[in-house]
Amino acid sequence: MPSMLEARKVRMEYERRDGSKVLAIDDFTLDVHKGEFVSFVGPSGCGKTTFLKIVNGLMPPTSGDILLQGRPIEHSSRDRAMVFQEAALFPWFPLWRNIGYGLECAGMKRPEIRKRVKPYIELVGLSGFEDVYPYELSGGMQQRANLARALVVDPQVLLMDEPFAALDAQTREMMQAELLDVWGQTQKTVLFITHQINEAIYLSDRVLVVSARPGKILDDVKVDIPRPRGLDVKRSAAFRDIEDHVWRLIEEQARITMARTKTHRDEDGAALEV
Ligand code: ADP
Ligand code: MG
Repeated sequence: MPSMLEARKVRMEYERRDGSKVLAIDDFTLDVHKGEFVSFVGPSGCGKTTFLKIVNGLMPPTSGDILLQGRPIEHSSRDRAMVFQEAALFPWFPLWRNIGYGLECAGMKRPEIRKRVKPYIELVGLSGFEDVYPYELSGGMQQRANLARALVVDPQVLLMDEPFAALDAQTREMMQAELLDVWGQTQKTVLFITHQINEAIYLSDRVLVVSARPGKILDDVKVDIPRPRGLDVKRSAAFRDIEDHVWRLIEEQARITMARTKTHRDEDGAALEV
């Protein structure tokens, strides 16, 4: 299988406003194949978001190589789309214009946008809501719109940073199943960050466990559970075995993170090192 994404010894050091340095990730080395669904789990502040931002081209790493389809990533581009926890829809745009926003930015005319967004609105189950405004949509529907907005520009790679974290438990489970359905239909390569171990396993081909900061890949756990996966696979013995394994690794890392943190938080919400 060809590599969609290659990261070789990627390291990212930030400089805080007071001049002190934070080594967020160190020696991130991994390959993601075309069409793969890969999740990252790890304690807060271990550099997961940092890595996704680098892949998105929002900032270069301090050192190391990062290649998309064999070419170095130098800036953001429509071949990568990011989906965040907050849907961040424009309240003054109806659904179809929110979903088509990327196309509008690229200069496409509105009648053409309306046509282009239609299959994506269908794909995420929002047909009939084209002219509805965001405030009329539930959290789950807003997150579906968010996904459609990322997909409509037809990216090669979807970068999802805790996209379901703000949803209630039931909606979240439904969204996981729907995301797998959409992924099955679109064949996108997905990098997905979550704090929920069972969400990571349920969705992924591989779960990458990231160590406490500075983040390194501690383990690359293959999820050998056949697809399509119904939500009931979460109760199978094979699933539970993987969950136990990942849980043990994370627990250890979370303990390291907790031991070195104070109770206050920096502006990114990550706990500060003593
Ligand atoms: P995660 O997403 O795993 O919670 P992040 O990638 O957001 O972790 O952050 C990793 C570390 O880098 C944290 O200690 C965080 O405080 C620090 N960090 C993130 N962004 C910045 C920044 N812009 N400037 C300085 N430090 C940062
Ligand atoms: Mg994060």
